[in-house]
Amino acid sequence: MLQSFRSSPHLCELKAFRDLFICDSRFRADLAANLNSALRSEFPLLTLSDVSSLLPTSFVESFKTEIVPSNLNQFFLHILGLEQRYRDFLKSLQPSLSSWRDWRLSQINRLRMDDPSYRCTQVTHIPFAIELTEGCSGACRFCGLSAPPLSTNILRFEQNAFLLQSILSDLLVSAGSSAVSGCLYWATDPFDHPDYESYARVFRDVLGLWPITTTALSESQLGRLKGFIQLRSEGRDRPWGLRCSLRSKTAFHTLYSKLSHAERASLVLIPQYPGSLSSQAVAGRSFHDADVLSQNSLGGTIACVSGFLVSIPRQSISLITPCIAEPNHPNGYRTLKTVSFTPNSFQRQLASIMDLFPCPSVDLNTFLSLTIDSSQFKLYSCSSCPDLLHKMTGAPFTLNSLYSLLPSGVNLDEVFQCSLAMLQSGALNVVKL
Ligand code: SF4
Repeated sequence: MLQSFRSSPHLCELKAFRDLFICDSRFRADLAANLNSALRSEFPLLTLSDVSSLLPTSFVESFKTEIVPSNLNQFFLHILGLEQRYRDFLKSLQPSLSSWRDWRLSQINRLRMDDPSYRCTQVTHIPFAIELTEGCSGACRFCGLSAPPLSTNILRFEQNAFLLQSILSDLLVSAGSSAVSGCLYWATDPFDHPDYESYARVFRDVLGLWPITTTALSESQLGRLKGFIQLRSEGRDRPWGLRCSLRSKTAFHTLYSKLSHAERASLVLIPQYPGSLSSQAVAGRSFHDADVLSQNSLGGTIACVSGFLVSIPRQSISLITPCIAEPNHPNGYRTLKTVSFTPNSFQRQLASIMDLFPCPSVDLNTFLSLTIDSSQFKLYSCSSCPDLLHKMTGAPFTLNSLYSLLPSGVNLDEVFQCSLAMLQSGALNVVKL
């Protein structure tokens, strides 16, 4: 893809046109006022046929004759479409461990029922995310994961290179081909780690591709960004694998003016500031009760992992799955279990948490605790016992104690199945008393 841009100044200019169109409301206004002149003055290599399909129809309606998209336009659309096709491909990759595969599928189906938004259809349910740092310097007002401030306790690459290599190799055994869709950040910014590129190289060496990387710090780390673009261009890279989340118009204009069209061409720019064309999910710091109704349209989560959140600084592994943000899970994911590890015990601890697949095992005397807010009870209905979840509320309970509270005539098989579905998705968790 990068090669196509490098060999075609026209293609680079078309990508720059699109960047400016989606990131700069003033340019959009200029185009709306006088399409021909705004296009000519900013992008002299492009014609209306090159840009027509990138514009809203209202922009080109004023022209008497139909504008037929040029070959350049069609080729560019094909390249843009790679992002969606690759996302679908990643979603189609499945863990090789069959019990993980079954559990992941149940989470995909469950989330699809819970969250009707378009954003939810784009959740790829990747198998793992590995945090290299703790917290984030981004402090974004919209952070969907409510990242806390960056901890200054950052372990250098030399101290962790071998650990990351063995963590990735262990995950690869069970994740199989889906491992390549994992990533090296979570409620963190990749560029917060001064050695991120070295870790990314380990990822590439073990799994075969550079990891998907989204940074909100690109405008303040321009030298690193340019170096990383160059690094990723050497050898195989996934399409549109380097993404810049832009938190202000200034951030966009810095990238626009300081990177060449060719350097910027392979980047996905995601404008996140007021007046931009994108919206944020109602989760994390964007979550508050008044917004809950808009979750159906904007989406209730940005958490994309149905698998393991591994924190190297905290030395912990958690099994997590996305959910609609709600008061008990404002960051849009549930945690089924967390274990700690040392470099020597990672493999064993990972295996122990994998025992939860495809569903945590329980008996009638296992203590369980309800984790979800009452606003979510509608997601787990039990027709023969409509107030089942209310009976689960409060102190931990066992299935035996729950059954004793139910009126006669309740279908206990249905109660059991409902409880298992809740256990699978972290709406109920096993607790030790
Ligand atoms: S959105 Fe990303 S960069 Fe911003 S605070 Fe959250 S994790 Fe950090």
